[in-house]
Amino acid sequence: MTHDSTRDPVAHHFPPAPRGPFKDVPGAQWRNWHWQLQHRVREVADLDALGFPLTADERRAAEATRSEFRVAITPYYAGLMDPDDPGCPVRLQALPRMGETEADSWDLVDPLAEERDMPVPGITHRYPDRVLFYISPDCAVFCRHCTRKRKVSDPATAANDDQIRGGIEYVRRHPEVRDVIVSGGDPLAFSDDRLEWILRDVRAIPHVEIIRVGTRVPVTMPHRITPETAAMLGRYHPLFVNTHFNHPKECTREAYEACRNLAEAGIPLGNPLVLLRGVNDDAEVVKRTNQLLLMMRVRPYYIYLCDLARGNRHFRTTYEKGLEIMRALRGWTSGLAVPYLVIDAPGGGGKVPILPNYVEERDDEKVVVRNFRGTRHVYYEPVDVKKS
Ligand code: SF4
Repeated sequence: MTHDSTRDPVAHHFPPAPRGPFKDVPGAQWRNWHWQLQHRVREVADLDALGFPLTADERRAAEATRSEFRVAITPYYAGLMDPDDPGCPVRLQALPRMGETEADSWDLVDPLAEERDMPVPGITHRYPDRVLFYISPDCAVFCRHCTRKRKVSDPATAANDDQIRGGIEYVRRHPEVRDVIVSGGDPLAFSDDRLEWILRDVRAIPHVEIIRVGTRVPVTMPHRITPETAAMLGRYHPLFVNTHFNHPKECTREAYEACRNLAEAGIPLGNPLVLLRGVNDDAEVVKRTNQLLLMMRVRPYYIYLCDLARGNRHFRTTYEKGLEIMRALRGWTSGLAVPYLVIDAPGGGGKVPILPNYVEERDDEKVVVRNFRGTRHVYYEPVDVKKS
């Protein structure tokens, strides 16, 4: 295929994904998302047969975590895993490790208390004007750091048609809800027809102003975002898509094209990134991820400190590391690449921003700030405005 540099002047920053053990799969199959879903790695030991050497820790963890959180890895995402590097950032997100079996006393099954604020099954209504609508436990890849591992991957938590109708009815009866976040699991695990049924009914509610769809398929199975799917989503504007890239390795040509399809359907894209120890707890890694995302027309939206979900202990890093990364972003790269660092407060406290302190002094007439290079600057305030 010839690269159209007029249409895609930055595409050369995005190399095609390596296919690893799947290099002999014919292109038409590889690009077919149904094939990708059907051929997911569901048993870690199956990687042996594909010539992918597992570590002793990965083997033990596969058994130890079997009943807690299943394994699913698309061939596409498996192709991004480095067989020779157990510390590969994609591998760490996809393969279980024994760290998942360790827990601190403060670890929680439902760290954000989503089940507590659930007036009807599948709807979390905590904030005044918006709801989270859980529609599917399935995802292309089950991320080992998932915050909802208490139910994601468990088919028993699937929402049947009645439950989904009940969720839509709840929104219809609550005129204060102006923002519906359709999530899971991954809503794009549904067929276009099934997802469109939900979006159409939600969009038909007059007081719903915006719809958001949370999906990781641009990262884990980008072929899912066909132009037709993007056009379907675009029929329900204003509709926003939040995806979840965590590392530059995930920013492939295929991911770029998936995001391009969404952007060309007029869909604003955002990216919450989760700081994960060993994966991206490094300022240069986060900076480059965010720069690549901007070229993909995805706005970095939040950086989360990894929450207190049970089984995530080994992924967590410190508050200080988060601040260090924020200091390394602000001023050193485009402001668009500098999102909020937040703690999603355990127990349902909501997102609390954490900011490095750039204010050095404050008195009745001025604020003294220190900028990203460490130089001091004085900002004088108006004298005729009452200070609080
Ligand atoms: S795609 Fe999202 S919901 Fe699914 S396993 Fe990954 S983090 Fe969890």
